Amino acid sequence: MSKEIKQIAIYGKGGIGKSTTTSNISAALAKEGYKVMQFGCDPKSDSTNTLRGGKYIPTVLDTLREKNKIKAEEVIFEGFGGVYCVEAGGPAPGVGCAGRGIITAVELLKQLKVFEELDLDFVIYDVLGDVVCGGFAIPIREGIAKHVFTVSSADFMAVYAANNLFKGIQKYSNNGGALLGGIIANSINAPYAKDIIDDFADKTHTQVVQYIPRSVTVTQSELMGKTTIEAAPQSEQARVYTSLAIKIAEHIESKVPSPLEIRELREWAAVWANQLLALETGEVRSVAANI
Ligand code: ADP
Ligand code: MG
Repeated sequence: MSKEIKQIAIYGKGGIGKSTTTSNISAALAKEGYKVMQFGCDPKSDSTNTLRGGKYIPTVLDTLREKNKIKAEEVIFEGFGGVYCVEAGGPAPGVGCAGRGIITAVELLKQLKVFEELDLDFVIYDVLGDVVCGGFAIPIREGIAKHVFTVSSADFMAVYAANNLFKGIQKYSNNGGALLGGIIANSINAPYAKDIIDDFADKTHTQVVQYIPRSVTVTQSELMGKTTIEAAPQSEQARVYTSLAIKIAEHIESKVPSPLEIRELREWAAVWANQLLALETGEVRSVAANI
């Protein structure tokens, strides 16, 4: 009997750090001895770059456009630590639905029976999440993934995208959709950023799984075409990513979140705006007092 493969989807606003975080999770899990597939579902098709020395791989949709019968090895490429890398790709800009592309790619791998044959422990889907588009909900909706994590900073746009994702999860939760594991808080350096994201997690009845600082080590690693796990394994940042990967590996129970209504979200933001202003004024005073 084949073991159950843990299927995880990582969502978040464009540019928030999904691919960076996902690739580091994959690399860390591979180092822990797990068999991992990273499945890029962003039409940008750059999810797995840092697992492959900065190189792009052919996407499933592009390959399917060239020929209608394809072999697994034409779309699955091994990266750091033996992580299997796949990029779903996307339709030509302005034509078709990116979500359909994801389902086509997943269906193809199912037909080719690669999930069983590779004896995987984890499949991690890296999905663009700031678009209010049903297509991108496919990994949640169709029961492809079981647990969802969202990458968010303390910026309002990132929180807004996370809140929209929570609405999607809540909507499909009655029909066997994926549930929420929690928030991966990225680029958290200032104490107020932690407070903001903690408060949002609290209000929406979820949890922060890991705080990840913004770090120049990540920038350096990316410029070398590598994950931080590969480029700087002894660094503090690599330790943070490993801690996150282990928490995800051990994570069992996901939940239905309680997204805020748009009016509540705006009010929440306004309260924080006032608090930050007060903090800023306080800082000005304390600096003045030191003169
Ligand atoms: P996404 O996949 O969400 O579009 P990326 O993972 O491609 O975003 O990240 C966008 C940019 O932000 C990249 O240049 C990446 O190196 C940088 N980045 C992400 N997280 C961090 C971090 N914790 N510290 C420093 N740079 C980061
Ligand atoms: Mg990305």
